[in-house]
Amino acid sequence: MSKWCVGIDLGGTFIKFCLLSADHKPTRIFQLPTPSDRGGQGVADQMIAGAQQAMKEAGAKVRDIVGVGIGSPGPMSMARGVVFRTPNLPMLEGFPLRDAVSKAMGVPVALENDANAAAYGEYLCGDGSRRGDMVFLTLGTGVGSGIIVNGKLLHGDHEIGGEIGHMILEPDGELCGCGQRGCLERYCSATFLAEYARRLIEQNGRKSRLQDVLKAKGDIDAKDISDACRDGDALAAEVWDRAARYLAIGCVNICRIFDPDEIVLGGGLTKAGDELLAPVQRHVAKLHWSLTMPATKISIARLGNDAGAIGAAGVAWSAFARPKDKH
Ligand SMILES: [Zn+2]
Repeated sequence: MSKWCVGIDLGGTFIKFCLLSADHKPTRIFQLPTPSDRGGQGVADQMIAGAQQAMKEAGAKVRDIVGVGIGSPGPMSMARGVVFRTPNLPMLEGFPLRDAVSKAMGVPVALENDANAAAYGEYLCGDGSRRGDMVFLTLGTGVGSGIIVNGKLLHGDHEIGGEIGHMILEPDGELCGCGQRGCLERYCSATFLAEYARRLIEQNGRKSRLQDVLKAKGDIDAKDISDACRDGDALAAEVWDRAARYLAIGCVNICRIFDPDEIVLGGGLTKAGDELLAPVQRHVAKLHWSLTMPATKISIARLGNDAGAIGAAGVAWSAFARPKDKH
């Protein structure tokens, strides 16, 4: 009988579910709303309901389930299976999420940081040929990241390792939500790109066609900037290139520390595809040391929003598989 792991990707609005086979084939990914009115137990109950639905769809019984992986926004203690204070999921603070789901389902459960889970999903399923070390960055509201060395996610000694988004690129730079100044996240996230363009227009009086967008919508987003950039708007091009340059600085630093086979970029900003990748690669070529040629590939993630659920299941496979489960 086939063996499976369940992958659960917890977000502030939705929880995503899938099963993953031993040879890393995911089942259909679906989502259920994240309940906000029944505390941590309500979230655990919804996870159990979704896991059971995924199992039913695949014809899997509890005895076919090797384990469950939950990807959640952090910070958290993976060792204790508890999420700490997280702004979009305040009901989870201190709730023993891992043990509640494990006890109710009768299978082992692993709790993992959501960006790490997404990184692992891309590692396992994003590109079938991927075998080397990989660093994943997701450029969205913030910048999440995951580092995979020798097939394993890097957690650090205090469970806070692999936070590339909070690598300081500018001492005394932009204040970050984490309390540091000059973090990569404050220069390369989709949110900051829009904020910076607005600042140049509203505070510095710069001219741009983005002013029309601002007037029409009341706000601008990263896509408006890449669209304006494509239409030859000078301010949009400057904002876009600045983000690409900071991202390239981050990538070169990553190469100096880890020398990974690949840096994979995901999240909202990467919808621009080559319009993001090309300037990042151009800046990397300029910033890179002269001792060796750049050898690390930089590419766009393949799995999109599915990476978290698939990767969470992959984390469970990595934590709980015994040799006989793989057949
Ligand atoms: Zn930070």
